This record gives sequence, C-alpha cells and structure tokens, in this order.
Amino acid sequence: MKALKNAIETRGHFINDEVLKVDAFLNHQIDCSLVDEMGNEFYEHFKNKGITKVVTIESSGIAPAYATAIRLNVPLIFIKKTQPSTMIDPAFAEVFSFTKNKTYPICIEKEYLKKGDKVLFIDDFLANGCALEGLIDIVKSSGATIEGVGIAIEKGFQKGGDLIRGKGIRVESLAIVDGMNAETGEVFFREQ
Ligand code: 5GP
Repeated sequence: MKALKNAIETRGHFINDEVLKVDAFLNHQIDCSLVDEMGNEFYEHFKNKGITKVVTIESSGIAPAYATAIRLNVPLIFIKKTQPSTMIDPAFAEVFSFTKNKTYPICIEKEYLKKGDKVLFIDDFLANGCALEGLIDIVKSSGATIEGVGIAIEKGFQKGGDLIRGKGIRVESLAIVDGMNAETGEVFFREQ
C-alpha cells in the first residue's frame, strides 16, 4: 500500500535495525484517513471469505481492525492483555512480547467467539509471530476458524510471516519491510 510505505519512510523512526517506531500515524497518534484506507485494503482482500468476527489484540491493532470490521459489517473483538473484573468466563493464552521482552497472558470472554465463527485477525505489526500464535490458541480453543490475517507492517526479516504462512494461514500485509538501516534512515520494502 503506497500511502503506508510513504508514511513509514517520511514519518517512521528507526529505533535500531529491528524496531520501527510508527507513533506518528499508527501506534500513538493515529492518521485516521491512512488507517481508513488500510481498512479498505483489508476489506478488498477478505470480503469474500464469509468473515463473522474481526479480532485483534489491544491496543495498536484496534484502529485498523475497526476500519476493517465496519466495512465487513461484523463485530470487532479486541483481546485483552489484563483480565478485567467484569470478565465472567475467560479463555486464556500466553504471548511473548517482542517489544517488551516478556511473556504476558491474553484473555477473551468466551461468549464472543464460538464454534462456527470465521475470524479475520488484524494487527499493526508482524514480527516473530508470537502474538498470532497466542491468538491461534484462543481461536482454536473456541472452535472458531481463522480465515485470514491482515497486517499493516510485516517485518520480513523476522520469522513470523514464514511461521504463520507455514501453518496454511493466509497472511496479507500492506507493507513488508525486508530491512532497515537505523544509521542512514533507509528502509527496504519487498516488491508485492
Ligand atoms: P510478534 O508477536 O509478531 O513478535 O510481534 C507483534 C507485536 O509486537 C505487534 O502487535 C506490535 O505491537 C509489536 N511489534 C513488533 N515489532 C514491532 C516494531 O518494530 N515496532 C513496533 N512499534 N511494534 C512492534
């Protein structure tokens, strides 16, 4: 997606050669028209898949997931990183966080994801695929199926893309970064 690649080049910051900061348009301040366009792209990829739920993990995936779910006209569920006292019957999985370098539990109220649901998972980044593996565990335990994954920015030099596609899951990424140079500020995109 041209506009996203342009935003990464002009408004992204490279923390080091592995971590990209996109707080200017996706992770802190949100560029709503850019995120809206992301929703449209994901909608075009998955509109014929019979999706019944869009799922993300809080918090940075919520904006693009909302932009997608409203077009698909289905509910959006954001999986939680801490169990609220209002959650009655939770299902849990464990996720290792790439940016925080620690493992944390994720949870969902079981009644929102059921056998027969067809899930589209949307997230901001795909790095090593740990968040997605946790999500796959939760979806499988509910009896729902994953019909596809939509990612804003996939870091192609990390193993997540191969890992998840290797499980036979369709992954559509709007920008795939194959490398970045924090010193020069250069970013190398995969041809798509
Ligand atoms: P994974 O679970 O695939 O290893 O990492 C995915 C999660 O880690 C994303 O949801 C995102 O929150 C975070 N993440 C991974 N790499 C980056 C990065 O380069 N920049 C930012 N801002 N977040 C990242």
